[in-house]
Amino acid sequence: MRQTKEEDMRKCLKCGLPENFQGIIIHEDNECNYCKFYEKQKEVLNDNDFLHERFVEQLNQAKAKAKENNAEYDCLVGLSGGKDSTYIIYQLKHRYNMRVLAFTYDNGFATEYGRTNIQIALDKLNVDHISFAMNREKLRKYNQMCTSLFKNFCMMCFHLTHYYSHQIAAEKNIPLIVNGRTKGQILQFADSTHLLEPFEYTSCFEEYEYQMFKKSAEKTAKLCRDLPKIEGEVRALSYFMYHDYDPQEVMDFLEERLGWVKPKAGVAHADCWAHPVAEQLQMGAKAYPIMTGELAYMVRSGEISKEEAQRRIEKESVTGKTVDNKITERFNKEMKMQTKEEDNAKECTRVS
Ligand SMILES: [Zn+2]
Repeated sequence: MRQTKEEDMRKCLKCGLPENFQGIIIHEDNECNYCKFYEKQKEVLNDNDFLHERFVEQLNQAKAKAKENNAEYDCLVGLSGGKDSTYIIYQLKHRYNMRVLAFTYDNGFATEYGRTNIQIALDKLNVDHISFAMNREKLRKYNQMCTSLFKNFCMMCFHLTHYYSHQIAAEKNIPLIVNGRTKGQILQFADSTHLLEPFEYTSCFEEYEYQMFKKSAEKTAKLCRDLPKIEGEVRALSYFMYHDYDPQEVMDFLEERLGWVKPKAGVAHADCWAHPVAEQLQMGAKAYPIMTGELAYMVRSGEISKEEAQRRIEKESVTGKTVDNKITERFNKEMKMQTKEEDNAKECTRVS
């Protein structure tokens, strides 16, 4: 494969995305397909009154459906211990009067920080909570396959989190799952309105995965083909697609209302100890950090400048290049990934 140096790479004039970004087409006018799509839809995507109406309409439909189903809850929300999930549960319960079931999927990468915040949140939120951890050996196998095939284990984590969320919702007749994806996360790969909020709503796990990963969803699903198909209709709704989002405001709010503990300054993804390894794998495979698409969206929507996005990309790239040895060792141990030396040593033991 021909390697292109970063400085030689063609980039979108508007958002700065490089030509090796997933699914990008840079047109003759040096603008990318994602910028062109955003330009076409931006009026709708920034019409806050319209978005709020759509959000409330979805919640009302869920309430009616839950009543019809005799369900105990109107919606299910994932609770990771991070700021967004906690904030969403609070808002749905207190502002929108929803009967919420909180759900924690243990992905094997949870931190003490995240666990403590889950406890703090549950003490104050007064919602029912279900926690689920899958068979560790099986989880390890899925993570290993995903990492060796796609140089990425985040996709598997998303896949399983959402698979089990949809499964529990379907089992309990809960008609709606509300998630904490940001506008940038949702719109970073958007070049069509197909299954894209607020234009089209997804009604099952497979459709929701399409919204998240597009065609790559099929590849991850293939790795887990032994998991049974989920029956029943469950809609997904992304809270921050319909509400303005300021991470600092969210953290201040939670600290004040719930006594939620903020992460240490500069620590991103404080609820996942393996995040630096994920960043390292991403840099090795794609040469741009995980946040790149989301930052490009923020440039497109005028939230930050192209220069600011570049500055943050450089900072994130450093995370992936300077992973603490202890984290690497813990990751290899967790995934049972062995070094060549260890393999050789085992071979010798077996021979003797
Ligand atoms: Zn662009």
